[in-house]
Amino acid sequence: MTAPELLVDAGVASVRRLGRFDATASCSCGWSGRRRLLVAAAEQDAWAHAMRDRCEVSTPLVLTW
Ligand SMILES: [Zn+2]
Repeated sequence: MTAPELLVDAGVASVRRLGRFDATASCSCGWSGRRRLLVAAAEQDAWAHAMRDRCEVSTPLVLTW
């Protein structure tokens, strides 16, 4: 169960897939991850950030630009 008031300031993390070997995680709270060769690595960044900074992960997580 989630309490809505705890999520007011939470950002939403997502992975931007910019090319075949270029993916970067970023978050609406201002955080952005390192550029990764693998989408899976960028996904790990997004999840790790969400857990550490109490942000949410977007659905779908990976967005193709
Ligand atoms: Zn965030």
